[in-house]
Amino acid sequence: MIQSPLLEHRTGYVAGAFLPPHAGPRFVVHDPATGEPLAELPSYGAADTDAAIAAAATVLAAPPASLETRAGWLRAIAAAQLAHQDELARIITLENGKPLAEARGEVAYAAGFYQVAADSIDALAPRTLAQRPRGLTWTVYARPAGVAGLITPWNFPLAMLAKKLAGALAAGAPAVIKPAELTPLAPLALVHLIDRLDLPPGMVNLVFGDAPAIGAALCAHPAVRVISFTGSTRVGQLLASQAAPHVKRLALELGGNAPLIVFDDADVAVAVEQLMASKFRCAGQTCVSANRIYVQAGIAEAFTHAIAARVRALKVGHGLEPGTQVGPLIDRGAAAKVDRLVGDAVARGARVVVGEPAQPDTGFRAPTVLADVQPGMALLTEEVFGPVVPLVTFATEAEVVAAANATEYGLAAYVFTADPARGARVAAALRFGHVALNNASGPTPEAPFGGMKSSGYGREGGVEGLLEFVELQTVPSA
Ligand code: NAD
Repeated sequence: MIQSPLLEHRTGYVAGAFLPPHAGPRFVVHDPATGEPLAELPSYGAADTDAAIAAAATVLAAPPASLETRAGWLRAIAAAQLAHQDELARIITLENGKPLAEARGEVAYAAGFYQVAADSIDALAPRTLAQRPRGLTWTVYARPAGVAGLITPWNFPLAMLAKKLAGALAAGAPAVIKPAELTPLAPLALVHLIDRLDLPPGMVNLVFGDAPAIGAALCAHPAVRVISFTGSTRVGQLLASQAAPHVKRLALELGGNAPLIVFDDADVAVAVEQLMASKFRCAGQTCVSANRIYVQAGIAEAFTHAIAARVRALKVGHGLEPGTQVGPLIDRGAAAKVDRLVGDAVARGARVVVGEPAQPDTGFRAPTVLADVQPGMALLTEEVFGPVVPLVTFATEAEVVAAANATEYGLAAYVFTADPARGARVAAALRFGHVALNNASGPTPEAPFGGMKSSGYGREGGVEGLLEFVELQTVPSA
């Protein structure tokens, strides 16, 4: 069981207080590396969610806090996260499995969203039009949209929450957070830190447990006006259908199937370096993880050698062990999915360049490189969400653009070429919300990030991420 000064209370948080223990159902959080239980938490359902929403709604009954006050909350949260970076990182590593250095990076990255939201908050100040149409003074106000339901996944327990909570707090929209039940401990630890700050009771609330019941309650309650969700396309579609009768706004950050394209003229060493960082972060379990690697024929052999050497050298282990570069997958289901996709590819003719047979008894999967991956293999249409590098050889620009776009997803893509004109042309042709040129960077707090097609809609980060949580109100005044 985990001991932590940031996990003194093991319950939800509503109206500025940790909930009293209840006698209802409970669930257990595990260390994915060992299977050991870390904590047992109460499982909340619709009634508790309604109580959290009601607490959040009381905040909206009072005039909204000033922009300056909200910026102060955001800066205080960023500072508190950074002051407890090591302990928060340890909690993330224990419940998610990622290496400790990555978890520390996640805490800093998450703090960046609060900081940037504070720095950008003037974008939400009232704006009076320079023109005076119809002889009136026109002012546009950014009002808090209402209670915000924030539903987050397990792969970045703090960062995915930061992207949403920073926007909601900047907008003055009180939040009901539902973290993933696989990784609720880092969000619970964050709430311990927020509890020490000076936010109005009800501004931040936390429930977890029965995800379908909590999701349905958030979709049905009239006070909830925005639901911001990061997770699978399947659950995103369900939430969209549940929210539709109430005409509720959604921001959906859903699955990805990122292509990484390397043209013959690219710097192979740079492309390999960047692919390693994109592919093996969180053992390949990120929505922006390079999932399909398209390498032009002229450099295919050199690229395969270079990436194989790097992948062979990776150290797999418990995230708390010094030197670990790849941790376990989140659970046995995730490992089974990797086995299925790799098995399908090998059965259809893919060649194993690096990798070992599956280890069914553990959550760990050996980093793997597959060459001769062909269209029709499931590995190219589904997110593998694991440490697997599938290499596809291509001949022409037109062919690779068509192949990269041949997916229902449109989140992140990466292009490596020494020709800037080609880079610009290919970026414009790719239907992805994020296209990185000669790097494989994922999102940053300063810039908007989000998907096209089945990867969802709405943006997080930048000024755009704040606008998701406001309603614009136009006041023409005589
Ligand atoms: P998931 O959809 O299973 O779970 C996400 C969240 O939804 C969790 O909190 C879960 O408890 C909750 N949930 C599950 N069923 C629900 C329901 N019926 N109603 C309401 N909430 C429900 O996804 P996951 O497996 O946790 O995360 C992996 C997926 O998330 C991948 O597809 C990945 O690409 C995607 N993802 C996307 C982004 C992005 O920015 N677009 C970022 C990270 C992860």
